[in-house]
Amino acid sequence: MIEFQHVSKAYSHDIYALRDVSFSIGDGELVFLAGPSGAGKSTVLKMIAGLEKPSSGMVLMNGQSISKLKSSSLPYLRRKLGLILQGQGLLLDRSVLANVMLPMIVVGESMTDAETRAYAALERLNIQDKADASPLSLSGGEQQRVAIARAIVNRPQIILADEPTAYLDRENAVIVINALKAFQRSGVTCIISSHDEQFLEQANRVIYLSKGEVTDSWTSALIPAVSAAITNATSLTSTAPA
Ligand code: ADP
Repeated sequence: MIEFQHVSKAYSHDIYALRDVSFSIGDGELVFLAGPSGAGKSTVLKMIAGLEKPSSGMVLMNGQSISKLKSSSLPYLRRKLGLILQGQGLLLDRSVLANVMLPMIVVGESMTDAETRAYAALERLNIQDKADASPLSLSGGEQQRVAIARAIVNRPQIILADEPTAYLDRENAVIVINALKAFQRSGVTCIISSHDEQFLEQANRVIYLSKGEVTDSWTSALIPAVSAAITNATSLTSTAPA
């Protein structure tokens, strides 16, 4: 369904965000894009959303090249997507409910339908009691749950989440990951970037990026073992004497 074919992205002649990246992701998968900061994870997500174009290679969705879409076709692509991207915060001058209604208002749904669906989306994230609150009064974990409700209110086929557990404590991170897993169980494809190895075992598949290249990729049977190996390696490195 989503396919990267030999995708490279150069921001200048010697700065490559991605180098010859190829993989495909099927319908209904829960895929983690793992790897350290700067590895190219956000760039992959932005390309799927049509926000960045490859310098070479192709990004396909259902066999159609995203980078060749006319800008007039991009809104149709985006309607299939629920985006939880970094830096796309909630609007602070309106309530939580109004924030979640916004994607529906933008596509021309009635206020009544938008309100009903936005409330249902908040319920799925178990944060409906904050519907009338200002985003400013919410904790980081609660804001992230509202951002997910906003991303899913239009019933996307694919959720793209860029570091959705960054800055969250363990308890809130688990709530966010469990919410994304629940969407995947209901048939939504979820592609989640994370440099936090503790969640890798929740995925069907991990695509590991390093310095813009796919250096590894594992399917679910192997994930617990690989995740444990990474955690051990990390703790050994961090406790090793200088
Ligand atoms: P990650 O999400 O894994 O942290 P990114 O995809 O954000 O990685 O970035 C990959 C590399 O591309 C980094 O070296 C980053 O500095 C570079 N990069 C990303 N966006 C830009 C940009 N707009 N201009 C220049 N370099 C960029």
